[in-house]
Amino acid sequence: MPLDETVEDWPDDRLWDELAVRLGPEAAANLTRGPAIEKSIAPLRSFVFEPMRHGRLLLAGDSAHIVPPTGAKGLNLAASDVHYLSEALVGHFKGGDPDAIGGYSQKALARVWKSERFSWQLTKLMHRFPESDAFDRRMQLADLDYIATSRAAQTTIAENYVGLPL
Ligand SMILES: Cc1cc2nc3c(=O)[nH]c(=O)nc-3n(C[C@H](O)[C@H](O)[C@H](O)COP(=O)(O)OP(=O)(O)OC[C@H]3O[C@@H](n4cnc5c(N)ncnc54)[C@H](O)[C@@H]3O)c2cc1C
Repeated sequence: MPLDETVEDWPDDRLWDELAVRLGPEAAANLTRGPAIEKSIAPLRSFVFEPMRHGRLLLAGDSAHIVPPTGAKGLNLAASDVHYLSEALVGHFKGGDPDAIGGYSQKALARVWKSERFSWQLTKLMHRFPESDAFDRRMQLADLDYIATSRAAQTTIAENYVGLPL
């Protein structure tokens, strides 16, 4: 939806109708409608604040990077940041490693940027943007066709969707 739309533009029935269109007639026929518990609009933003360290301040999670929800990577990235950060803190305080904390940002960012890339690409593939033209649309369709027919493309998506190794 365009960014100038508000939650008020989306009464529950409109949401259910849209979901039904996307699920297709067979699944939609079995939908049980009910009132929405909570509604909000999530803008499709991509942002990285780097480095993830400023002196004694170490950033992790959404405070350092935002991904659009398409790849479901936000919480996963926050968890991997914390994994690297805990290693760095243990290395510093217990192991006496002078480089442990210094290496945190670079290590975390290597994973962050790959997830940003994946989320951004998936978002561009799955959404229509106001500035898109006919060529962009054909690129989307070619991409979707490629993914549907290529084992290699499917493997790439699966590898990123499941999550790259720490
Ligand atoms: C609708 C929705 C669906 C999502 N789905 C997924 C998904 O499927 N998979 C996925 O990986 N990610 C998902 N995410 C993203 C994920 O929730 C976030 O990326 C993740 O929670 C970030 O963790 P965080 O600890 O960095 O920040 P947060 O979880 O936002 O934690 C920050 C905390 O700090 C507190 N806080 C803020 N200001 C102050 C202050 N001044 N003093 C004290 N405390 C403060 C807040 O109350 C909050 O508890 C989703 C997000 C949304 C909104």
